[in-house]
Amino acid sequence: NLAIDHYATPSTYGFQSTAAQTKQHTDHAMLHRSLTCKPDTVSHASSIYLTLESGRTIIDACGGAAVTSIGHGNEEVHAAALSQMKRVSYVHTGAYTTTAAEDLAHIILDGNPYGLEKAFFVGSGSEAMDAALKLARQYFYEKGEKERRFLVARKQSYHGNTIGAMSVSSNLPRKIPYEPLLLPNISHVSPAYAYQYKLDFETEAQYVSRLATELDTEFHRLGPQNVIAFLAEPVVGATTGCVPAPPGYFRAVRDICTKYDILLILDEVMCGMGRTGSLFAFEQEGEGVVPDIITIGKGLGGGYAPIAGVLVHKKIVDGLRAGTGMFNHGQTYQAHPLNCATALAVQKLVKREGLVGRCKRMGVVLERMLRDKLGDKMYVGDIRGRGMFWGIEFVRGKGTKEAFEPGLEFGVRVQRKAFDLGVAVYPGSATRDGIKGDHILLAPPYIVTEGDLATIVKVVVDAYDAVEREIRTNRAR
Ligand code: PMP
Repeated sequence: NLAIDHYATPSTYGFQSTAAQTKQHTDHAMLHRSLTCKPDTVSHASSIYLTLESGRTIIDACGGAAVTSIGHGNEEVHAAALSQMKRVSYVHTGAYTTTAAEDLAHIILDGNPYGLEKAFFVGSGSEAMDAALKLARQYFYEKGEKERRFLVARKQSYHGNTIGAMSVSSNLPRKIPYEPLLLPNISHVSPAYAYQYKLDFETEAQYVSRLATELDTEFHRLGPQNVIAFLAEPVVGATTGCVPAPPGYFRAVRDICTKYDILLILDEVMCGMGRTGSLFAFEQEGEGVVPDIITIGKGLGGGYAPIAGVLVHKKIVDGLRAGTGMFNHGQTYQAHPLNCATALAVQKLVKREGLVGRCKRMGVVLERMLRDKLGDKMYVGDIRGRGMFWGIEFVRGKGTKEAFEPGLEFGVRVQRKAFDLGVAVYPGSATRDGIKGDHILLAPPYIVTEGDLATIVKVVVDAYDAVEREIRTNRAR
């Protein structure tokens, strides 16, 4: 029942609009991302499909923003949520806990193989990042290392929209208007983005070594004894599109942080909770590469509940125990029972159905399809990712890796065409050194079949071909 022959229907997915749609939805009262564009209303969602008010059915090949994991409309999760609502709808975690929250923490920490000892649940990835920053600072404050005040993050990173999370992010177009409000004492080093930044004469190991030296030098510039933490996404999500680090990078980063007792905070809000083929993305970075604090989100509740979390290593917990014994970061709705019970049902299902392993296996299939069908296309520069998390970067020339003119909106155009053909993908445009790059991101639910992936890839190829044709025709004129 896919509307893949639906070329004629204008899409309004994300932030596009048409005069007709605007007229139809003049009654929207939501302050949307764009004041002039009206998004489609989704009236129903089931498995990997979204049904729009217009009756069109779309394959959700990006899980919203890499959120949907077990697919939409799962009745087991509905039942768990309702049952929790009936038992305990709310208590304040300053005074109480619930079995839902404790069981969720247990299922994620699962015997604590990496020394991650405690979990803390909030409502969004941005809040999780803010809580992580406070925890890191408090750890040193209680140890008496109060001079530690600097945070080092990476360029082209995205950590969220709250003031704290935005301050450590480096998604410049989103940040610049708010600069006077952002936190001080934050600097950004180069990302680990081999496709664009590894020099031709460098080996991967030399590139890693260059990045490690840059980080070490930055710590020295600030005085290592003044630095709280280094923050990074193990697989960069929204900004540059599913970019894993080259082998050895996180090993080197961990070692440098350990050398100066600087904390390593890994942001797995997008890439964590199974999406890359292991529960945590950092597990693929080698033995002993373990963060001190990790943030998780999206896949935790799989879209069924607004929930994110902070997982805290024993080292930090012990530090707080030895100090005030408090983490005074009480938010009214933290570890909300409904969110926890819902996420718990999602996580039980992920575990029972072996969906993390499935992500890994299907990732191999998706990679093969993407490389076979898109690898030789003239404007496809790079295809990278892991598990159910893949980015396709578009460039003007394969050799030069040069970005398209920003006004061309290559990625957005591919996304729009794909949507018109019945598949939702996530567009992206990273600003690299002042230059805007284009990519799309695929993050299908973990339950996709090989057949679904073939349909998704076919539509992406058709969408890409249509945009390539348009651009070549315009250039020929
Ligand atoms: N960190 C990363 C890596 C993210 O991708 C996001 C969201 N895209 C966030 C943090 C912020 O999460 P939220 O939107 O739930 O606040």
